[in-house]
Amino acid sequence: TPVAPSNFLRHVIESDLTQNVYATRQWGGSPGDAAHHAQGMADPAKVRLRFPPEPNGYLHIGHAKSIWLNFEMAKEYGGVCHLRFDDTNPEKEEQEYVDSIRDAVEWLGYETYLADRPSAPGTMQPHEYFASNYFDFMYRAAEYLIEAGLAYVDEQTPEQIRTNRGDFNTPGTDSPFRSRTPAENLARFREMRDGKLDDGAAILRAKIDMASPNINLRDPALYRIRRATHHNTGDTWCIYPMYTFAHPIEDALEQITHSLCTLEFEDQRPFYDWLLDRLAEGNLIASPHPRQYEFARLNVTHVITSKRKLRQLVEEGHVDGWDDPRMPTLAGLRRRGYTPDALKLFCERSGVTKSGGWIDYASLEAALRDTLDPIAPRAMAVLDPVKLVITNWGELMGGDEVLDDCTAPLNPRDPEAGERHFKIGREVWIERTDYEDVQPKGFFRLFPGNKVRLKYGHTIECTGATRDADGKLLEVHATLVPDTKSGTPGADAVKVKGNITWVAVADALAAEVRLYERLFAAEKPGSGELLDELNQHSLVKCSAFVEPSLAKAEGDAGFQFERHGYFVVDAKAVGADRHVFNRAAGMRDSWAK
Ligand code: ATP
Ligand code: MG
Ligand code: MG
Repeated sequence: TPVAPSNFLRHVIESDLTQNVYATRQWGGSPGDAAHHAQGMADPAKVRLRFPPEPNGYLHIGHAKSIWLNFEMAKEYGGVCHLRFDDTNPEKEEQEYVDSIRDAVEWLGYETYLADRPSAPGTMQPHEYFASNYFDFMYRAAEYLIEAGLAYVDEQTPEQIRTNRGDFNTPGTDSPFRSRTPAENLARFREMRDGKLDDGAAILRAKIDMASPNINLRDPALYRIRRATHHNTGDTWCIYPMYTFAHPIEDALEQITHSLCTLEFEDQRPFYDWLLDRLAEGNLIASPHPRQYEFARLNVTHVITSKRKLRQLVEEGHVDGWDDPRMPTLAGLRRRGYTPDALKLFCERSGVTKSGGWIDYASLEAALRDTLDPIAPRAMAVLDPVKLVITNWGELMGGDEVLDDCTAPLNPRDPEAGERHFKIGREVWIERTDYEDVQPKGFFRLFPGNKVRLKYGHTIECTGATRDADGKLLEVHATLVPDTKSGTPGADAVKVKGNITWVAVADALAAEVRLYERLFAAEKPGSGELLDELNQHSLVKCSAFVEPSLAKAEGDAGFQFERHGYFVVDAKAVGADRHVFNRAAGMRDSWAK
């Protein structure tokens, strides 16, 4: 699924390639930095992109957009894309999340484009990048800024810092610590590093312009004190770099060419350039340095794309874990029956633009149908079963126990796919909604006196039904119309308007089918109280009967249950003695109703 032939990012990359911008990249740092420099630079002219998730939760559909964009563009321009764990915040990051992110990227099929070299010795996995591996370099970069008079240690309280930053209408006020000498700042920063100050007692700030109209340039924080154990570096550090300081450095060290991010970061771009310009002047990084470009984040109606809010749903037990099939996480979408191809098609259709908007949830389902329809094996399943008895079966077929063989194509769209086989007998399960005592307008299925075809089987004529004292339907009765077996000569001589799905009582498999509705009733969730926006009826479980061809069904490959939509075996139910199927999407857009 390629990225659309024309988008603004392509123009940037193609123009940089034409002008050989990165082929001329020069670097003149100290030998210690050469290790970083040498890391990726087999070919400096290569387009080098990255996907930099923070391992503080599972990836969601929004991340899929970013993964798809970066990896597809890198692939297309003969470049590479780094999977980089942006793990500079020790408190919220966990190994479980690192593993889940790796799984998701691999599942989407991008592991082979991860990098053009193995990682440095001592890193966790080949072809993966960890921001925390650059902590030493980041520290040196901070000392460089201090020595150059471009950073200072501020010991105002967090409250004072906030107040003195000013706001949109008011310029900021200089900190009393702003005029410290480089030597004083260096000594104090080393004390921060050595654990001589309490958490929150001081921060390192860039010295830029407290009156800048861009508040991000009013001496942004670079380092803070935080005594927390880091999943990679343990207790080595008690100071940690701020994201806005760390991220440009990560890009520069990995020799990224184009740093693609979402629009929220637009106001950070001046600082990104300020920092890398200063570090390039100091010969700490190569020139020209990476450039940041912003695109609109993906928003999908009825879906939350915020790891923090998704974590809340998991932790408060509103869903059954990060991979609950209702979750918009890649793990959840996978368990629900979404495929990598469907998600990539969805990303492509959603476009790469500079202005945000909401994509209709229906287009996610449409992408699934469009990718599965040509390839998904078909099967019959009866979700709300009631028994149909063919009362003259024994008489016509030579005994009540006699079973007849039926054949159906695995996929009518793909004649090569082969056939499936199942039985028909005196008793079959049909959908409860396929019978009515009195014909409603436009209804051509079962009602007394009407003939229908049991799909791939015989034509029957409905003779009536029995009900219990409460009026609940118990059994539907019908008679077989002779010589109407599907696939035999003259089978269609008796014309019928209804063609219904069924499974034989004799060979049907009992199954549990899980029907999912949108997790959020609110069209644009995330603005109000999360729990008020939840759909309380997002999961319906039904006891169903399915075709025997599904006995060995397993794995990620989906099925089309005729009439009902696209289903997949629930990954957590494999191996259990019950067959559990999740519905990924209905046959057509049901959201419109
Ligand atoms: P969240 O708010 O869910 O935690 P994030 O942006 O903080 O999202 P990161 O782990 O930092 O999460 O994201 C990694 C990359 O994925 C970033 O480059 C980010 O811009 C991108 N990304 C995150 N959400 C979306 C989205 N909805 N659409 C497109 N890209 C996204
Ligand atoms: Mg982030
Ligand atoms: Mg976030």
